[in-house]
Amino acid sequence: MSPRTIQVSPFDLVVFGGTGDLAARKLLPALFQRDRAGQLPEQARIIGVSRKALGDGGYLRFVRQALEAHVKPAELEGAALERFLARVHFCAVDVTGDGGWSELATLLSEDVAQVRTFYFAVSPDLFAPISQRIGRFGLVTPESRVVLEKPLGKDGEGARVVNEAVGRVFGEHQIFRIDHYLGKETVQNLMALRFANRLFEPLWNSTHIDHIQITVAEDLGVGERGGYYDTSGALRDMVQNHILQLLCLTAMEPPDAFEADAVRDEKLKILKALRRIDDHTAEAATVRGQYRKGSVGGQPTQGYLEDLAAEESETETFVAIRAEIANWRWAGVPFYLRTGKRLAARTSEIVVNFRPISHSIFDHTAGRISQNRLIIRLQPDEGMTLEVMIKDPGPGGMRLRRIPLDMSFVETFGVSNPDAYERLLMDVIRGNQTLFMRHDEVAAAWNWIDPILSAWKHTAQRIHPYPAGAWGPSASIALIERDGRTWLEDTE
Ligand code: NAD
Repeated sequence: MSPRTIQVSPFDLVVFGGTGDLAARKLLPALFQRDRAGQLPEQARIIGVSRKALGDGGYLRFVRQALEAHVKPAELEGAALERFLARVHFCAVDVTGDGGWSELATLLSEDVAQVRTFYFAVSPDLFAPISQRIGRFGLVTPESRVVLEKPLGKDGEGARVVNEAVGRVFGEHQIFRIDHYLGKETVQNLMALRFANRLFEPLWNSTHIDHIQITVAEDLGVGERGGYYDTSGALRDMVQNHILQLLCLTAMEPPDAFEADAVRDEKLKILKALRRIDDHTAEAATVRGQYRKGSVGGQPTQGYLEDLAAEESETETFVAIRAEIANWRWAGVPFYLRTGKRLAARTSEIVVNFRPISHSIFDHTAGRISQNRLIIRLQPDEGMTLEVMIKDPGPGGMRLRRIPLDMSFVETFGVSNPDAYERLLMDVIRGNQTLFMRHDEVAAAWNWIDPILSAWKHTAQRIHPYPAGAWGPSASIALIERDGRTWLEDTE
């Protein structure tokens, strides 16, 4: 069954940073795919903005190259590419000055009832100056929206400054803080699984769940982004946004409706209920790591310092955290979070480990009864696995075995999922904020992260080295094993 495509309203989408890596790899291919699917109306236009003096022709060449590099050749065949390129315009603006803004204003549609979206695909230091000039040049219309890329600040104070600057020009209902993890099909499926089935919700609490693991593992190193990464680190780059969002959707109470503020209110409660980790508890509850040389997928790789071409660095490329949610539903259920670069595999998953059964009727010949597990995979192949105990088939008596009930979305639906940016960009045009973060969520996330960052600094918490290709430092294995548990890949 092919999904029904409903066209969005006509729009102008202004991409600040239109010649950047994000635009080339994600935004332009996503818009192209939506156009190919018939979702963009005839009047939809994309206006790339950067400080490069490119002109329309130069920018069209850039867009064409970006699509050739990031879209399958067969998908570029036919009229689709030319139709898409006809929507593309360019305006040279150095956003730190006043030049070029009048030209941009002239380029925008005069129809103020039309959707106008400003996408900030630039460094966050530019969010305030761009917003300010958008305001000063009178570009905000009632149907305007603004999309903010991560990172939103380097700490709570930085995020507050950005939110305030953007909030002086745009109303909260116009601000879309993007976290592309929320656009992933599996993440939305997590909500369908929890709230469209009778089966799981009664079990979704400390009575039945032993603990939850959330892993976002990358096999790549920092590559070309070393300079930026070294000012950030795994906690800011991954935990503050993606991992905490996954944790919220896993742990939140059922919202009363699948609507932006209802969902975001519930996520906010979880962020506020996270038990604070501070100078006294950081050593026991967190592990910092940094990769050294090793081997990933059989290929030798160098260490972080060599990637960075630096003598030393105090930046963590791995973090593991034992988090707790201090509320009625989750009291006593640890959430083990970890993320890192140059790990053994590229994988993102949420593992819900149920408690053991209360009494076994089988004798020792049946074997061990393993706990049920629900594994929600975000990548590489999106899907879910429910692990259940069954009888080993055959006449050998009652022997028990844990088997996976597997659902790969690609296999089940016969199509690979659209990229998260496709979904999220269309949500922006439609004005649907459900999958975007509200300012108070961002503030609450930083409120939990800031004390960890400052504890690491005050206590000079050590960084544990780990060889590239491992699952992080051994201290992160100890973190979970101290509680008598193991990470998913260490179980049978
Ligand atoms: P990039 O360095 O490749 O591109 C930056 C863009 O900003 C370029 O188009 C450049 O011309 C433009 N720019 C810079 N200064 C300008 C100025 N003064 N006036 C006008 N234009 C200016 O960066 P990127 O990788 O595309 O990332 C952009 C933002 O998105 C960053 O905040 C980054 O953290 C975030 N982000 C990037 C990715 C990614 O995959 N690249 C993923 C998530 C978030």
